[in-house]
Amino acid sequence: MQDRQLYEQILGIPSPWSVERVELKLEEEEVHVFLEHPQQSVWRCAQCGRECALYDHTPERSWRHLDTCQYRTLLHADPPRANCPEHGVHAVRLPWAEPHSRFTLLFERLAIDWLQAASQTAVAKRLELSWDEVHAIMERAVARGLKRREAEAIPRIGVDEKAFRKGHKYATLVTDLDQSRVLYVAEDRKQASLDGFWKTLTAEQLASIEAVAMDMWDAYENSVRAHVPQAAEKIVYDKFHVAKHLGDAVDRVRRGEHKVLNAAGDKRLVGSKYLWLRNPDNFTDDQWREFRELRQSNLKTARAWSLKEQAMLLWDYTYPGSAEKHFAWWYRWATHSRLKPMVDKARMLKARLPTILTYLKHGITNATSESLNSKIQWVKYTARGFRNFKNFTTAIYFHCGGLDLAPHPHKNP
Ligand SMILES: [Zn+2]
Repeated sequence: MQDRQLYEQILGIPSPWSVERVELKLEEEEVHVFLEHPQQSVWRCAQCGRECALYDHTPERSWRHLDTCQYRTLLHADPPRANCPEHGVHAVRLPWAEPHSRFTLLFERLAIDWLQAASQTAVAKRLELSWDEVHAIMERAVARGLKRREAEAIPRIGVDEKAFRKGHKYATLVTDLDQSRVLYVAEDRKQASLDGFWKTLTAEQLASIEAVAMDMWDAYENSVRAHVPQAAEKIVYDKFHVAKHLGDAVDRVRRGEHKVLNAAGDKRLVGSKYLWLRNPDNFTDDQWREFRELRQSNLKTARAWSLKEQAMLLWDYTYPGSAEKHFAWWYRWATHSRLKPMVDKARMLKARLPTILTYLKHGITNATSESLNSKIQWVKYTARGFRNFKNFTTAIYFHCGGLDLAPHPHKNP
């Protein structure tokens, strides 16, 4: 029959399998393709590939395949089981689907391609699957991708916390700064959250780590020190995290000063909050003019702001000796500023200076590439619909893990 051969070709069904018959259900808009194989007494074990005796056939199963001309298409077959002297009775591998999947390889590939561009809900709707079915495809893809990951060197990594579900829960993300991908996700931001990562590495990978960017966060630092050789020279506090600390101190000075000025009828600081916090590089000409007067004034906030800007020059140095000199000068100024929030931050930075200056050697920050960051943001945004942390983890690995997700056809019959 013509349509049998046509379907064999379209589906790419390899020997010994062939199409027995094709049923078209016009009402349901479905095509049912029934597969068969000739009598053969020898099948390969799915575990070891050894040729074994046929044991029996399990009852008919079906697999959703790519639609044919917009007709939902299902394959049907009775899977044979082989009896391996070593592994016992197991279903043989079928060339069109992975074990336990209700979809063909091609269908899964399509779903995976679409999931990379659209939300799970949208893909579920378009493929007429449930959200759970789509999520199961994603989970299998991630498991496959993680298993295929090679133990490559990871010289520069970043450890970062991400708020997951606004302010309620945190996730710890380990990123490969060179290849812009997420290597690891764990719940919470404790030392134990990061401890789990090191166990996923080989001894060679652990030894390949040259630098780790992170916030000034003791839980993470303790974990790195406990697992990475010569950690002290490798940890680099994130520049933007230090800037945020100093920015918070400037804001605290501003709030205190504003209260006093406002009570005396001086409105100079009204509405100025974001002028002090913004990166000066991003000012428009008008904003810069408006701000120049403020920052050149004798306000305490202006002094705090100058202190912050001067501290950030540390990252522009090439030689640690010069940077240390700059810091000593700055530290004296800051601790004599009589601005308590700045004094506190100066003491904090002094205690952590060696781990700030490691930047001069490694030149890394925790800022991931724009594309990885936007993917993480997208997952965080869509994560509002996720019921649990595991689903969030799956989505992060799927979109941000740089994984080889698609099922490949397997070789042995
Ligand atoms: Zn076997």
